[in-house]
Amino acid sequence: MSQVYNFNAGPAVLPAEVLEQAKNEMFDFNKSGMSILEHSHRGKDYDAVHQEAIANYKKLLNLSDDYAVIFVQGGASMQFAMVPMNLLGLGQTADYVNSGAWASKAVKEARLIGNVNVVANTEKEIPTRIPRVEELKLTNGAAYVHVTSNETIAGTQWKTFPKTEAPLVADMSSDMLSRPFDSKQFGLIYAGAQKNLGPAGTALVVIRKDLAQRVSEKIPTMLKYTTYIEEDSLYNTPSCFTIYMMMLVTRWILKMGQENLYKRNVEKAAKIYTGIDNSGGFYKGTAVKDCRSDMNITFRLPSEQLEEAFVKEASNLGMKGLKGHRSVGGIRASVYNAFPMEGVEAFTSFMREFQKKNG
Ligand code: PMP
Repeated sequence: MSQVYNFNAGPAVLPAEVLEQAKNEMFDFNKSGMSILEHSHRGKDYDAVHQEAIANYKKLLNLSDDYAVIFVQGGASMQFAMVPMNLLGLGQTADYVNSGAWASKAVKEARLIGNVNVVANTEKEIPTRIPRVEELKLTNGAAYVHVTSNETIAGTQWKTFPKTEAPLVADMSSDMLSRPFDSKQFGLIYAGAQKNLGPAGTALVVIRKDLAQRVSEKIPTMLKYTTYIEEDSLYNTPSCFTIYMMMLVTRWILKMGQENLYKRNVEKAAKIYTGIDNSGGFYKGTAVKDCRSDMNITFRLPSEQLEEAFVKEASNLGMKGLKGHRSVGGIRASVYNAFPMEGVEAFTSFMREFQKKNG
């Protein structure tokens, strides 16, 4: 197999040793003679996987017993609706920071449920950026404040989160477990699994248990956080294989060390940003410098033709998934936790070569 570096934004690169282990036990999990894909979600083999995943997330996020870790299908997009369905009471207002395309989708869903106050809006700004904390015009007595910790399309990332009186809710889909943060600062965190956490198929939700109690009795069972908390995410059949893969990834993160991974992430991103900044304007970063994401690095070339050629030549060299999101164009290099340093080095050297030929 030839070496491929996977820059996809999600589903994204997974640690090679996790894939290797999944392959090795695909036909015979835990000497049971069956694949984990075939086990009952009520059996002891799967249960051990499920409980280890939850325990590992609690450890990685340093969570107290006030918080629950749950798995909800429907991806992060369903959380856009579930958050207000559960936390936004009649007559209350929820504050949303609109920092880009993903935040704006969260706003759209919340508006279907209740009152929304957009407390700052940088969605349409170019260069892209995250609003500054001083810009937020928070509502007194808001039900919660919603932020998107990393805008996957815009290539921007909150560097420090706002301190809010109302519970802080964060969509961390594209930077979950990529850097240290204080989980106690948040009332609820959610993330689609398919970037830093595992394959697609579930959202990881971390919720302060008292907040889940706000839900109205009228909300359907499967859309209430309390159902997942009370039934340990086993009310119905969960996405067993995804959770198994997520568990293997948590083991990998624990083994790598969160601090090491974080340092490596910063270093990887810095190498690419340096390549952009040292190109004399041939490559142009699309985000304001102090909002640059360490996960999704977005930039432009002098023309769309050159961008097309760049993506094609990179792909021929085994560097896949560099095309920017279809809504904005340009180039996007997603370098999540599992993306290797060698891939970054190969990429920056390709950037220099490409500029030499075309600059
Ligand atoms: N939020 C962010 C920040 C995302 O990047 C994405 C997916 N790229 C989503 C939400 C939507 O996730 P899902 O596809 O799991 O619904």
